[in-house]
Amino acid sequence: MTNAKGVFAAGDMHKGQSLIVWAIAEGRQAAYNVDSYLMGKSSLPAI
Ligand SMILES: Cc1cc2nc3c(=O)[nH]c(=O)nc-3n(C[C@H](O)[C@H](O)[C@H](O)COP(=O)(O)OP(=O)(O)OC[C@H]3O[C@@H](n4cnc5c(N)ncnc54)[C@H](O)[C@@H]3O)c2cc1C
Repeated sequence: MTNAKGVFAAGDMHKGQSLIVWAIAEGRQAAYNVDSYLMGKSSLPAI
């Protein structure tokens, strides 16, 4: 989550230009964090 509550960033937008593997990993991590933020917990794999 960014310093704006409820706004999430991942991949190049968060890390700057990088490799696709980082964007995929950060996307999965963001999905887990968004799910946790909205639902209070998540059953998605935590990275
Ligand atoms: C020329 C080039 C070559 C590359 N070659 C490699 C390589 O060989 N190997 C490698 O590992 N990495 C490579 N990369 C890096 C890799 O492509 C990126 O790190 C990766 O794509 C980042 O993924 P992302 O999802 O963060 O961003 P992106 O893939 O840029 O996805 C962002 C998405 O957001 C969309 N978007 C933007 N603004 C808005 C808006 N206002 N509303 C809705 N949607 C919006 C865009 O259309 C885009 O689909 C290369 C990058 C470039 C530029």
